[in-house]
Amino acid sequence: MAEIVYGSELSEELKAAMKKKIEKIRESGLRAPCLAVVLVGDNPASVSYVRGKEKACAAIGMTSRHIGLPAETDMEELRKTVEELNRDDTVDGILVQFPLPSHLDQNEIIQTISPDKDVDGLHPVNVGKLYMGEDGFRPCTPLGIMEILKRMNCHPEGLNAVVVGRSQLVGNPVARLLQDANATVTICHSRTRNLAEICARADILIAAIGRPEFFTAEYVKPGAYVIDVGINRTEDGRLVGDVDFDSVKDKAGYITPVPKGVGPMTITMLLDNTLRAFEVKHDNTGL
Ligand code: NDP
Repeated sequence: MAEIVYGSELSEELKAAMKKKIEKIRESGLRAPCLAVVLVGDNPASVSYVRGKEKACAAIGMTSRHIGLPAETDMEELRKTVEELNRDDTVDGILVQFPLPSHLDQNEIIQTISPDKDVDGLHPVNVGKLYMGEDGFRPCTPLGIMEILKRMNCHPEGLNAVVVGRSQLVGNPVARLLQDANATVTICHSRTRNLAEICARADILIAAIGRPEFFTAEYVKPGAYVIDVGINRTEDGRLVGDVDFDSVKDKAGYITPVPKGVGPMTITMLLDNTLRAFEVKHDNTGL
């Protein structure tokens, strides 16, 4: 039986440490770090995600600034809003909640955010820095996955890591972080042949495809580290991952559950990136 590693628990520990850090910042007379969250429209899922992020900020003493814009906001208005936040010295991190209404261009908005406030790590400058091995903001879910592997006591060096999914948000950047950690990385996708065979050779398996309970025991090497990134709603309303937890838990060495696995770590790493943005800005103030 695999050890079940809860991102939710790890996330609470990391948040407690950040809370202490922020208390120290406040004691030194500085303002709290601030995350600006821009929400266009009132898509219920986005409203709930934004609320979750703002609640998480409040819980560790971080300020969040909510900028709610109507669904019919045009590009120029949204660009102007982001540019104002770029110039605002009291804002450390900017997050524009996606998906945007379809008349707005997500890529253009990502590129409008100043790279040193891009706490989602999606700006081309930060993506470039990731691939060049330079310091910069990394996307939150991949960072969360790497923290969970650490918690599993996994040392990726020399291990076979298989990442299934090649999105800019999860698959590609986590593959790069694993490569930086000296794993031998294979990236798979919807056109990969013999997927089960490739996955069954993985010491580390990252499942990030968005297909409910797709990865059954035959995809898993005995004792493997299995990270389930997927979040899927089944027809009967359950929240499940990409991994068939019940069959895989008896074969893997370590496994993350859904919910309470990778999800909570994504928000935590967003807070961590915002705190880092603040620290970089105040580097010369003796923090
Ligand atoms: P995308 O839809 O952007 O990418 C999915 C990837 O999976 C693509 O690369 C696609 O291949 C690949 N894929 C799809 N079907 C198969 C298949 N049958 N076999 C092999 N590969 C396949 O999704 P995201 O990366 O954004 O998200 C993936 C999952 O993770 C989703 O369930 C999402 O909800 C969840 N997620 C969870 C987060 C968290 O915090 N826990 C954060 C972000 C996402 P191809 O490129 O060939 O199309």
